[in-house]
Amino acid sequence: MPIASVNPATGETLETFEALDGAAIELRLARAEAAYREYRTTGFDHRAELVRRAADLLDDGREPIARMMTEEMGKPLTAARAEAAKCATALRWYAERAPGLLADEIPDRADVTDSGAVDAYVRYRPLGAVLAVMPWNFPFWQVIRFAAPALMAGNVCLLKHASNVPRTALALEELFRQAGFPQGCFQTLLIGSGAVEGVIRDRRVAAVTLTGSEPAGRSVAATAADEVKKAVLELGGSDPFVVLPSADVPAAVRAAVRARVQNNGQSCIAAKRFIVHGEVYEQFATAFTEAMRALRVGDPMDERTDVGPLASEQGRTDLEELVEDARAHGARVECGGRRPVGLDGGWFYEPTVVSGVTPAMRIHLEETFGPVATLYRVEDLEEALAAANDTPFGLSSNVWTTDGAEQQRFVRDIEAGGVFFNGMTASHPALPFGGVKRSGFGRELSGHGIREFCNITTVWLGPPQQG
Ligand code: NAP
Repeated sequence: MPIASVNPATGETLETFEALDGAAIELRLARAEAAYREYRTTGFDHRAELVRRAADLLDDGREPIARMMTEEMGKPLTAARAEAAKCATALRWYAERAPGLLADEIPDRADVTDSGAVDAYVRYRPLGAVLAVMPWNFPFWQVIRFAAPALMAGNVCLLKHASNVPRTALALEELFRQAGFPQGCFQTLLIGSGAVEGVIRDRRVAAVTLTGSEPAGRSVAATAADEVKKAVLELGGSDPFVVLPSADVPAAVRAAVRARVQNNGQSCIAAKRFIVHGEVYEQFATAFTEAMRALRVGDPMDERTDVGPLASEQGRTDLEELVEDARAHGARVECGGRRPVGLDGGWFYEPTVVSGVTPAMRIHLEETFGPVATLYRVEDLEEALAAANDTPFGLSSNVWTTDGAEQQRFVRDIEAGGVFFNGMTASHPALPFGGVKRSGFGRELSGHGIREFCNITTVWLGPPQQG
């Protein structure tokens, strides 16, 4: 894939970039190693000051940053502004919380005396240079939520961003440079995916985190395993949105629409499969389809736009193929299912609702990365739970019920990294984020996220020696 910034609303190529050659990659790896040697010895106060400065710069530059994201990958401008603001919040959260999250852990003395220790504790130390392979869909947020904890822990960062967001990738490097981070603490590598393996294998790279598709995750994890290096994978999702009879159905419909079309439908934690109890199915399906049909599709720079273009032509083709396969196998397209009329320049697709889905259809098991929802009718809690778990993915889940016992069934049995009741899944700095099954392993955000890239060091002190 060429490294290029292409406006998905128009198809116009804005700028192309040369990939770094071997010597340029080598220079950056050497810089990372040199920077880490010093940076790892700095204290939390110093790191926090730099991280807070990055947050201030993000706030000051919110408008141009948001416009750059929208121009490069098509998310509605209002969503891009919100993304930039959320990044500043997460930077400040880690600046404040990291010292507590990484404070020495002191076990109960009585628990360790039989090890012969007079004292013992756990110190969280950094690992080194961490490579982040990142996707384009939340081009600032995905990077910041990795970088804020990594930098606060004393690691240094190497970013291989998606090839269609090079301007954003360079802007991130510039942000950390302007914030005062020493050269080498945060570097963008403009490289294609083919060059990732060599970087992971380099001895100066300690660990890797990837957010993206399953094939990319498999490849990166295989290399990391071969090198015995730590890896975190945040992969795809096909999150269920379950509606049971006790739900406030109009509220569930409003949340369902937002949960499905956020970021033009291109979110790993977007609700994708809508599993509705027979008692409220007609009410939900009718209102949901109407609301999806009423969304305004168009120019993402226009603040009235609900749904912009898909980020790439290939992304739209993939989505169209899933819908056409379902249609060919007998599914009903309740609304959408085509390109909107009059928006020919960009990669637009109408918000779509598909019902009558069967396991014979690809859409049943594959991730729909765009504004396409599938509707399932179930007759009881058991069927709802079975349908929710009938997916190779396990990122998050949404369940609408006010019944405490039903909630506890989902807490016990849902095969996902999260369950959100009477709301929609959203990431938050204080809450761990990640999945099970083919959605990956490891966690981002919260204390769990910052400790992923730490050397959890046992410190043991024996009794004083005689003579
Ligand atoms: P993608 O093709 O996997 O790309 C993501 C990143 O991986 C890009 O930087 C890409 O580089 C790189 N890459 C691709 N193939 C690779 C390989 N074989 N080896 C090393 N690096 C490789 O993903 P996408 O289709 O752009 O993004 C959408 C996917 O990401 C969806 O499945 C979505 O659910 C998932 N996602 C997950 C989360 C989460 O937190 N769980 C969040 C957002 C998105 P190039 O651009 O150069 O190919």
